Amino acid sequence: MSGASARVDFLLTGAGQLVTADPGLGEGPLGLVERAAVAASQGTVVFAGPEAALPDLPLAAGCARVDAGGRAVLPGFVDAHTHLVFAGDRADEFAARLRGVGYEEALASGGGIHRTVRATRAMPTHELEEATAERLVRAALQGTTVLEAKSGYGLTVEDERRSLEVLAALARRTPIDIVPTFLGAHLIPAEYAHDRAGYLELLEREMLPACAPLAEFVDAFCDRGALTVAESRRVLQAGRRHGLRAKLHANELGPTGGAWLAAEQACVSADHLLYLDLAEAAALRQRGTVAVLLPGTSFLLGTGRSAPIRVLREAGVTLALGTDCNPGTCYCESMQLMIALACVHGGLTPEEAVLAATDGAARAVGRAGVAGRVAPGAACDLVVLAGRSYLDLPYHLGVNLAHEVVKRGRVVARDGVPLGLLEAPPPPPATPSPSPPPGTA
Ligand SMILES: [Zn+2]
Repeated sequence: MSGASARVDFLLTGAGQLVTADPGLGEGPLGLVERAAVAASQGTVVFAGPEAALPDLPLAAGCARVDAGGRAVLPGFVDAHTHLVFAGDRADEFAARLRGVGYEEALASGGGIHRTVRATRAMPTHELEEATAERLVRAALQGTTVLEAKSGYGLTVEDERRSLEVLAALARRTPIDIVPTFLGAHLIPAEYAHDRAGYLELLEREMLPACAPLAEFVDAFCDRGALTVAESRRVLQAGRRHGLRAKLHANELGPTGGAWLAAEQACVSADHLLYLDLAEAAALRQRGTVAVLLPGTSFLLGTGRSAPIRVLREAGVTLALGTDCNPGTCYCESMQLMIALACVHGGLTPEEAVLAATDGAARAVGRAGVAGRVAPGAACDLVVLAGRSYLDLPYHLGVNLAHEVVKRGRVVARDGVPLGLLEAPPPPPATPSPSPPPGTA
């Protein structure tokens, strides 16, 4: 207990299998506990362990009780990488890719990210917020309780700031934790195609001062057809001067030096990493950089390539998972599906995948020990699965396996139905009357 006065206001019993993601609390890498209970006070776990060892804790009046009925219970999923704020869709490009038109071809001909940038700039803010909210709710219904989300489809000072404001507005309406990332360096926008340095100048001088107060991380798309290593380095360094921590899209489309840059800049995470050798992986490990694997994207790009799991394993790099939810290469909000794809397509073991979707992803978004674990001191974020084992996640496909989702000690979804997941947007501010009516205080 964190103090004699803390009263338990959430108590879960009857977990047939509890994944604590804390090896100190249970068996194996997932810290498994059988016949387990979880108690929380004011949103924070105060006990996680065998039900038989549950201490006699003082219960608050109206304490929320959950009987897991023998089901498996896991930490809420942490989605370490999304591009949640966007307008429009690119289903036609997806279909063209199925017919053999490459992703880089579409990008080079003004489609791809450029097209989403045009659609996002054109969408009114309230519509952009609601479109983003719908994706956030779909993610949460599938068990995501912490989610990183990037700007990057604005690429002007106003539109990048607007994307981050949409995330801030949503954060006020939902208990789900949103980790905002500034990705003004997603691409050099079309209007700066012949003045790349001019765009980076704008990013440094105007965009970062406007956006950094609304973000935790700075990110850059360092790859073929996007930013070079030198350009990305400049962006990360500038972001850090504004108090942001660094992430990097690295080595997705080719062995472009992004992984080396991520290590050099001691990025919190390097994401994608489809092309990675042992020396690069060792450098990431040495700098404590987490590898964020995005198996949905590698699966849907259809190249058959996924991040080299043997290399990552051999180097001992911490693994994380994300959906990469975006309109171009992976339109998916489900961390459950990512766990499955990480196993069947990416070569991870179920234990590696579940750990990467919880504790590993929490590390990748600066929430180590706070999220992604069911342990004293961590947020009481849980997924009660429909089945009795975490193995159902890669095994039982195509259905939502989240029976109940708990955020900070409160049930926020049950069998796919949201329970206070999202408040209505605040009404628009009333137009002030020119002069107050007389006699009112
Ligand atoms: Zn991305």
